[in-house]
Amino acid sequence: MLKKLATWLRIAGYDTLYIADLEFNGDEDTFMVYNHRDRILLTKDKELFKRSKAAGRPVFLIRSDDVAEQMREVTKLGVKFELKMDRCSVCNTPLRKPSDEEALEVMRREGIKEDLRQRYELWYCERCKKLYWMGSHWRNMVKFLERVERSSNDCKNECS
Ligand SMILES: [Zn+2]
Repeated sequence: MLKKLATWLRIAGYDTLYIADLEFNGDEDTFMVYNHRDRILLTKDKELFKRSKAAGRPVFLIRSDDVAEQMREVTKLGVKFELKMDRCSVCNTPLRKPSDEEALEVMRREGIKEDLRQRYELWYCERCKKLYWMGSHWRNMVKFLERVERSSNDCKNECS
């Protein structure tokens, strides 16, 4: 339910698990209440929220369906959305510099031009075998974050 938010938390460098990526046996809600209790559970599910509270599990209820609004909600937890090349947005693995061989292998597989390595600094997810760099996708993310930031300031002015 909160996949986009999970992706943004990873982009901002936060170690974030997503329930659909985890392997476990039995009931999903029960798993979330009783496992990974060193983490804060983010959920839109009011029942799960209440159950977690009752069980003393750290939990935060997300109210909005809109990812920008959800991002504003979690700033109440002290989350700061700054773009970081710290972890893979797909799988949460910490990123590192690729070796020449790794970079070339991905570029060959994905048909990326050789000069990428001259133009950008590259990061690598060894689990997804994926390269990251601060290209146009990165610039779009910067713009999106500026919008999120701006509208939260609007809200501070209008809502307080
Ligand atoms: Zn990955």
